[in-house]
Amino acid sequence: MLIDSHSHLDDKKYGSVSELVERFRKAGGGVLVDIGFDADSSFNCKRHAEEFDGVYFAAGYHPQEADKNNDNALIERLLDHEKCLAVGEIGLDYHYEPFSKERQRELFSSQIKLASKHGLPIIIHSREASADMLAILKENAAYLGNGFLMHCYSESLEQAKNYLDLGGYFAFGGAITFKNAKKDDIIKSIPKNRLLAETDCPYMAPVPFRGTANEPSYVSFVYDKLCEILSVSREALEEKLAENFYAFFKKARR
Ligand SMILES: [Zn+2]
Repeated sequence: MLIDSHSHLDDKKYGSVSELVERFRKAGGGVLVDIGFDADSSFNCKRHAEEFDGVYFAAGYHPQEADKNNDNALIERLLDHEKCLAVGEIGLDYHYEPFSKERQRELFSSQIKLASKHGLPIIIHSREASADMLAILKENAAYLGNGFLMHCYSESLEQAKNYLDLGGYFAFGGAITFKNAKKDDIIKSIPKNRLLAETDCPYMAPVPFRGTANEPSYVSFVYDKLCEILSVSREALEEKLAENFYAFFKKARR
């Protein structure tokens, strides 16, 4: 069974969500997590989770939403839903100017605390903000007891060790299939019980679909690449990643 731990089904690129879910199942997909990036998308993710078996969701404000009018109370309304697995995606993104670092840090910290209050893990987006990310996680270590997942991990091996020390999990997606990915060493050095796979669809389509709209069924190519890097069979990898998924997302039912 394949698991896509991070997808955005609520994207305008997609026509029918049921067709996406259907193709995912045909490719061997069993479970996926539909990830919100603001209040509207989080509510739409909840709707998808209610409509489809095997679809769960996460709710939260992406760092690129930090300069807008956000209301954590809206997100909070979703967190006790039986299929809401985490607060996410949340974090820091210092790539797209202009933005206020201060507001991103505040929004991120407030959502870490919100997750803790509801007994949920968090799904983290971290881009070009390594130092601040580590500082905020250390500062909020008391609120990380339900776990945190570094999604689409793109930072250094050294930084990965810092996150590991704090109990972090790591998800890898289509980018590891790119020619100059150079992710092999990092993936090999992360303990196997801290690894997950994802698509981050509609972004980051894996080879051979690079440059097109990604979708959950393509997580299969991420699994293939992980098998190659880790020299494990597909069966063994599927089993391990499923074990990791249920260990991390404790509200998901096997
Ligand atoms: Zn995402």
